[in-house]
Amino acid sequence: MRNPFYRLILIISFLINFCFSSGGSDGITAAEIIDHIRYLSSDRLKGRVPGTPGSKKAIRYIEKEWKASGVIPAGEKGYQQSFEFTSGISLSGYNRFKINETRKTFRVKQNFMPLGFSGTGLFNASVVFAGYGFGAEDSVAWNDYDDIDVAGKWVLIFRGSPDGSQPHSPFADHMPLRKKYMTARDHNAAGVLFVNPYDDNDLEELLPLRFRPSASAGTIPAIHISQEIAQQLLPQNTTLKDLQEKLDNNRSSISFDLNVSISATIGLRTKKSRGTNLLGFVPGDGSSDEIIIVGAHLDHLGYGGKGSGSLQPDKNAIHNGADDNASGIAGLIELAEKLANNPKPLKKDVLFVAFDAEEKGLLGSKHFVNNSVINLENVAAMLNMDMIGRLKDSSLTVGGTGTSPLFEPLLDSLQNVHKLKISYSKEGFGPSDHSSFYIKDIPVLFFFTGTHEDYHKPSDDWEKINPAGEQKILELIYDVAAYIGARDEKPVFTTAGPGERPQGRRRFNVTFGIIPSYSSDEPGLTIDGVRPDGPADAAGVQAGDIIIAIDGKDVQDIYDYMHCLEELKKGQEAAVIVKRGGDTLKLIVSP
Ligand SMILES: [Zn+2]
Repeated sequence: MRNPFYRLILIISFLINFCFSSGGSDGITAAEIIDHIRYLSSDRLKGRVPGTPGSKKAIRYIEKEWKASGVIPAGEKGYQQSFEFTSGISLSGYNRFKINETRKTFRVKQNFMPLGFSGTGLFNASVVFAGYGFGAEDSVAWNDYDDIDVAGKWVLIFRGSPDGSQPHSPFADHMPLRKKYMTARDHNAAGVLFVNPYDDNDLEELLPLRFRPSASAGTIPAIHISQEIAQQLLPQNTTLKDLQEKLDNNRSSISFDLNVSISATIGLRTKKSRGTNLLGFVPGDGSSDEIIIVGAHLDHLGYGGKGSGSLQPDKNAIHNGADDNASGIAGLIELAEKLANNPKPLKKDVLFVAFDAEEKGLLGSKHFVNNSVINLENVAAMLNMDMIGRLKDSSLTVGGTGTSPLFEPLLDSLQNVHKLKISYSKEGFGPSDHSSFYIKDIPVLFFFTGTHEDYHKPSDDWEKINPAGEQKILELIYDVAAYIGARDEKPVFTTAGPGERPQGRRRFNVTFGIIPSYSSDEPGLTIDGVRPDGPADAAGVQAGDIIIAIDGKDVQDIYDYMHCLEELKKGQEAAVIVKRGGDTLKLIVSP
């Protein structure tokens, strides 16, 4: 416990609460489960986006249920632990673009638009044309920077590739705007001007501002400009269209100085939102300092939309998230009720946590583990419920079973009792909040009835929930908690599976063996954890270090880090600059 009196205060308030609580039905019932899910996934809650009135309704509902069961508030304010996070980006102040020689100025949103990752401020420099802005030769691409010095200059480059912009183009690896931006920055360009190629109808005329979680503001500006502006930057007798045709036909670089200069002012503001975790406490009999955490996330995707994680992003229909994760919250309510009304308490305390902003990158659980009201060393295990409402053929998946030798034998013995068929997945990492605990060396179990065709779609509705199935799962989880809670010893923690989250479809030749933070706002790449005996560990990299450069290249955020990783070859040593406390260290990593 951080505060020695914290537990005492909680217990006294528990006893007071207990004497006055009405009792009610303290078992786990299918009828109550479906009632909770129906309310939490109703249209009234509008998809439970953090900080919105719909989310507040969900929060009030959980608080009311916990209170009625005698669950003790254990947050910073009642049950609540709130936190701030970056949730969007907008233009700010005066955004301006001017060709110095002709004194022509252009209008933001009409003729030009900064990109979400652009640097901000006033930038004044001459301009160089650099083709498609490719930086590496391979079987399809070439190096547009080979024959020209772009240091201190804007580079004007085409979006996409000679094959257009479809994601299956052989140029796909070279096309991302962010990739082209970092290549220009690696060549010390002062800024990047992107222009659309002709005849590519898939491209927006001007890119809207897009927010990417965990992206830092870049050091140099990145601006999307209209073809009309780009044409005005070119020498007379040269048309943008001709340049593109030459590039597409010759498939080699065309780079030259344009002998014009541009001054541009870019202003962007990040939008901050508040998330709220809920913490409810049920004390043990006082014979143990240890705590079991039972968690589930309360947020979902709202109306979907771009960047929400929706698989039907343009539908603009409420994503109710009945299975994901009203089902898990129903579990938190029912388990807490049963435990708080159990006349014989466990040895260990149990802390129930409803996490916010899971869908935005496990933000609530990360905040919880980094600003915990309890001493994490006392946490015996974390049990996470995310999508437990669609049990089919009694088949349940449990993740994290390799994180303690206790788990598989325990679940083996319980699955027959509860008539469930459990498939195990040993990895401690997974796509939900238990990952935040696993990287703190806490044994985790992740209960999950599997993905389905309504996953992250507006059709994830309560009618498709199997409440009797969920009841069986909750009774199993109750028994798991009761078993761990009745033991004198803490479950032994063991590492299980890769130490890094799978990086989507990206291909890397090498790995550092670190767990990057996806939520830090610090410039650089904050490391949440280091895989034992991995390359980073061998080089002396520690959790909490912030990587700021690799092989002389700036690392501002996770995208820069992945860019550097792509460039590294197996067996090639990399000089990694990290910040640790007030120090800057250079470490040699052999990936
Ligand atoms: Zn979920």
